[in-house]
Amino acid sequence: MHLYIHVPFCQRRCSYCDFSIAVRKQIPAREFVDVILKEAGGHELNDLETIYFGGGTPSLLPPEGIAALLHELTPEAAAEVTLEANPEDVTAEHAKAWRETGINRVSLGAQSFDDNVLKWMHRSHDAAQTHRAVQALRDAGIENISLDLIFGLPEELNRDWDQDLEIALALRTTHLSLYGLTVEPRTPLDRWISRGATHAPDEDRYAEEYLAAHKRLSVVGYQFYEVSNASLPGYRSRHNSAYWAGRPYVGLGPAAHSFDGRTRRWNLRAWEAYRRAVAEGRSAVESEETLTEEQRELEAVYLGLRSSDGIAVGTGSIRAVPGWLEVRDGRLKCTPEGWLRLDSLVTHDSSTH
Ligand code: SF4
Repeated sequence: MHLYIHVPFCQRRCSYCDFSIAVRKQIPAREFVDVILKEAGGHELNDLETIYFGGGTPSLLPPEGIAALLHELTPEAAAEVTLEANPEDVTAEHAKAWRETGINRVSLGAQSFDDNVLKWMHRSHDAAQTHRAVQALRDAGIENISLDLIFGLPEELNRDWDQDLEIALALRTTHLSLYGLTVEPRTPLDRWISRGATHAPDEDRYAEEYLAAHKRLSVVGYQFYEVSNASLPGYRSRHNSAYWAGRPYVGLGPAAHSFDGRTRRWNLRAWEAYRRAVAEGRSAVESEETLTEEQRELEAVYLGLRSSDGIAVGTGSIRAVPGWLEVRDGRLKCTPEGWLRLDSLVTHDSSTH
């Protein structure tokens, strides 16, 4: 069993972000813990293999809140307990307290090491804080650290992607997640583009930077094991790998999704609506969908091709496409170029079923 807990609070909204968040200067920590525990009471949570605190900004939750949740939800330590953290929240005291509560993996929202770029993104940290955060985590005994980086930024920012990669690689964290910038409706970025204040990300630049990262990372021992994720050997994210393998999971908190192998349910998105529903003893579920056999097969193909394990040769009508989809070790796997075009590959092939 895998558990996701969505901590929706952020101190401000980043320019590109459309996640389900609640902007708060002071976060209602006690109330959040109580409401999560109440929602958890409606689920069977046995033998948790992984727990993932995502957000939002889970590192805004005081360590006592994290400790209370872990203590109540799991009698035995899960094998992998991840906390997403913003670099500015990682102090020596927090890192030590997180380690003591059972956090053994931290995913840091570094995004870039260029302070001008970080300002443009509305991030609250600078590059020096990311360096200090990595050190503080290591000093506290948390060695399994992931860095999030965003590529494909608008040209006028003059972001030096190669340099950012070099700095990230010099930190030698166990894991890297690389996300291309996308423009989501109603975000500050969307508004800047509409009024001509910035350019939309360029597709060629996106592809170039993505492929450059594949080349650079593989030279220094990282393995891309999923479209956006690379790790040193032995450090794949067990939690996210469970999603990609189609395993069941429970999600608690606003906007969190749960999946039992057939039916996917998702909670009310807004913190207030979610909080009220749970406090009043109503279901927090906003909606659900039960996958048909065909949908499950298509999803298994899509998820399989996202991972470096690929899919069995002969699955559905999916065939090799030179340069994009190749047979390696007896399985059909995407090349980096194929991963760039994964959506069109799956849509195209599924339409020939
Ligand atoms: S910290 Fe993360 S969740 Fe919060 S606004 Fe920024 S990108 Fe969104």
